[in-house]
Amino acid sequence: MSLGSEARDELASLEGIALSESPASLETLGRDRSHFPGSPAGVVTVTGTSAVLALVAWARRHRIPLIPRGGGTSLDGESVATEGSVVVDLSGLGQLLEVDPVDRVARVQPGVVNYELNVALAAHGLFFPPNPGSWRSSTIGGNVATNASGPRSFAYGPTRRWVRGLEAVLGTGELLRAGSRAAKRSVGPDLLGLLVGSEGTLGLVTEVTLALAPRPGRRMGLVVPLPGGVRLGRLVASLLPPATAGLSAVEYLDAECAAALARTPGARLPGGSPLLLLEVESSDEVEEEARLARLVTALAAGGVTSDPLVFPEADRLWTVRGESGVALDRELGNRLREDLAVPLSRLDEMLARLGAIAAEEGVRSVTFAHLGEASLHPNLVVAPGSVEGERVRARLLHACLELGGTVSAEHGIGLVKPRFLREELGATGLRLLREVKRACDPDGILNPGKLYPPPAGDLDGVADAGPQGRK
Ligand SMILES: Cc1cc2nc3c(=O)[nH]c(=O)nc-3n(C[C@H](O)[C@H](O)[C@H](O)COP(=O)(O)OP(=O)(O)OC[C@H]3O[C@@H](n4cnc5c(N)ncnc54)[C@H](O)[C@@H]3O)c2cc1C
Repeated sequence: MSLGSEARDELASLEGIALSESPASLETLGRDRSHFPGSPAGVVTVTGTSAVLALVAWARRHRIPLIPRGGGTSLDGESVATEGSVVVDLSGLGQLLEVDPVDRVARVQPGVVNYELNVALAAHGLFFPPNPGSWRSSTIGGNVATNASGPRSFAYGPTRRWVRGLEAVLGTGELLRAGSRAAKRSVGPDLLGLLVGSEGTLGLVTEVTLALAPRPGRRMGLVVPLPGGVRLGRLVASLLPPATAGLSAVEYLDAECAAALARTPGARLPGGSPLLLLEVESSDEVEEEARLARLVTALAAGGVTSDPLVFPEADRLWTVRGESGVALDRELGNRLREDLAVPLSRLDEMLARLGAIAAEEGVRSVTFAHLGEASLHPNLVVAPGSVEGERVRARLLHACLELGGTVSAEHGIGLVKPRFLREELGATGLRLLREVKRACDPDGILNPGKLYPPPAGDLDGVADAGPQGRK
């Protein structure tokens, strides 16, 4: 579906906006990394906030959906362009506007790439902690809109914790400035928090003020081969402070995932067993040695006595780890890529349920995990969108909810999981979420079809369970 001539001419005449309708840009920028096809009518780039304000006013007048897009690395259809929509490619708004070492904040445009921000911050002795596997191509705007996490979230938490303020153009056409540059703020309800993780459905983020952490003097990466049968929940519990200090990441690859990654050129990982990938931060060599000795003791308490292999540059370890998805693309092809989290106390139970579901359904299952947060990425070799695939997904996510978990640990809800979010939220949560959407985007022009459960059946039959109502 193309734009009508009146809407098209008006859009093309707006200041600070460049429109493309070339088949190549519609194809490339209409999709993300999920299995969904995109079908936008146009793609626009913008020069700044005033252009975004004009764009939203135009979209409201013509009732044309806008799809905000950063790096397009979403995995569940968060940035897929729906039929007849206009993709707003914000990756060109890529300026690091300010770094303030006293306030320890950076002001950035949304298109700044996570890894590049960290390279620039190194000169100031600072860093932005969330480091998703996609950090070399995902943007701060996308990280904020999905509340992204990474290996370091074990110690530092997700993006939400590091967003101090932002500027966004809401679906109403208004400019919202939420949060503050100050280090603390008691005001709630939290408008800033509403925007974080909202998947571009409430507003287009045009500027972000990020809190930053001091860069540690040293960062050591460690790879620990795991013996068969080790209880992972118990192992993680044995690694939590105060048993360890400076441990900033606890990642896991099962044996198949480790083997696939070991075959990646330049990976330099052992491939014969499941692996734990760890990072230890220290101020100097003496502290590092003491922390390593403590970690080895803690690992032994968790049932692991194999010697860790040292990866001197921890950042390289995370770049290698970020290739897990690509290695599995190569080895497994099309598959269900799940993203769920359970309480740490239920981790082994969740893994057992996963194994049982895969066996009963007759599908191959390969898992990697942000283990320290009991955040799992099961990969199941069954086509997403197929009857079998969606049955497997439903069984898995229902098991996760029964264990007190969440259906989206970090990737988002996108097009895949609105119906599961409905179950996680319960009727009252769902009603409030919809009210927020209506208040911020009354015409429903921002990223429609994503995140919010469809009205079908509406709230009938949705128990007001929420997390407290579950086991
Ligand atoms: C190989 C690989 C590894 C990954 N590893 C991780 C991981 O470890 N942790 C993790 O959390 N995720 C991971 N992801 C998922 C994905 O990279 C993250 O969700 C990331 O935050 C998306 O950023 P992006 O710039 O690509 O956003 P996009 O995919 O472009 O967009 C994501 C969402 O944000 C919205 N959006 C983008 N920019 C804006 C803006 N300026 N204003 C408003 N809304 C906006 C979009 O509409 C969409 O809903 C991985 C993906 C891949 C492909």
